[in-house]
Amino acid sequence: MEARFLPEVIGTMPKVELHVHLEGAFTYEFLFGLIQKYGGEERISSVDELSRRFVFRDFAHFIETWFWKNRFFRSPADFEESARLVLKNLSDQNVIYAEAFFSPWDFVSNGLRVEEITEATISGMKSAEREFPIRCGLIADIVRDYGAEAAEERVRQMAPYLDRGVIGIGLGGNERDFPPELFQTAFRTARQLGFRTTVHAGEASGPASVWNAVTALEAERIGHGVRASEDHRLLEVLKERQIPLEVCITSNLKTGVYSSVEEHPFDKMFKDGLMLTVNSDDPSMFGSSITDEFALLVNKLGYSEEDLIELTLNAVGSSFLPIDDKRALIGKIFGFWLNGSGDSPG
Ligand SMILES: [Zn+2]
Repeated sequence: MEARFLPEVIGTMPKVELHVHLEGAFTYEFLFGLIQKYGGEERISSVDELSRRFVFRDFAHFIETWFWKNRFFRSPADFEESARLVLKNLSDQNVIYAEAFFSPWDFVSNGLRVEEITEATISGMKSAEREFPIRCGLIADIVRDYGAEAAEERVRQMAPYLDRGVIGIGLGGNERDFPPELFQTAFRTARQLGFRTTVHAGEASGPASVWNAVTALEAERIGHGVRASEDHRLLEVLKERQIPLEVCITSNLKTGVYSSVEEHPFDKMFKDGLMLTVNSDDPSMFGSSITDEFALLVNKLGYSEEDLIELTLNAVGSSFLPIDDKRALIGKIFGFWLNGSGDSPG
């Protein structure tokens, strides 16, 4: 195999993304279009100006901006087109498979029903799958802040979409005040219905949250999970059971979980043999991308081609796909690395 300059390969190598929120991955061009369509924000007169709106002073400002941009998603067509464009953008980076969170309940205050947002999101996803070389599964992310009963109700609300593209249930929101163990019934229901499960834990809270996600909720994957690094015994369990962690380094830096890449436990956990995957979380909120996440590993931590291949295969193995589909993805990934071409992006 002829030598290739690794940073150039990062953009085109086949990737699998398991932790990306559709609501945090919109394109700036599309959001700018919505702002033009609905009006009321005269100060934002260009895409450039809009992008500057996503530079945050602190975490409170981040949350404020999150709700601000949500106000412009007002019709089912907005969700459909946004989902399509998010997946196009991922496909342009040669993401060949994504499991994407969506949270329709966040938009009922805009006068929309959960069902119409879900239908529109599925429809946008299917359009993208027809148009671009990418496949996707949706994970309904349940915000913990509304309590256990609402969570259970929301799980049941997703049941009709189980065979139509919604493959999993996630748990997000305020991890400190709403620990995993509160949601045992909701997650039991999710499993009984046939949903796959992942839980945000070990991001804002420490190891106890990850323990409970694994034991009380029997989560198949952990969103973030990085603060498991504070508990040696927990690390042993995660390693022995090879429970996948959906790590999002830039997100952790931007929200202040860690202050630098050097301080972030990714490298140590990877070298210790934990099942790590590389993800972008809310790329448009953080001015980042899945390509940037891999570039960071190469440029800041000196990761090799071999490491990138291992991390990509980790994501395939950790995905909720059936084995035949995993095999097909592995074929594409090896095709790229062996021939230097594989499936070209876009
Ligand atoms: Zn997340």
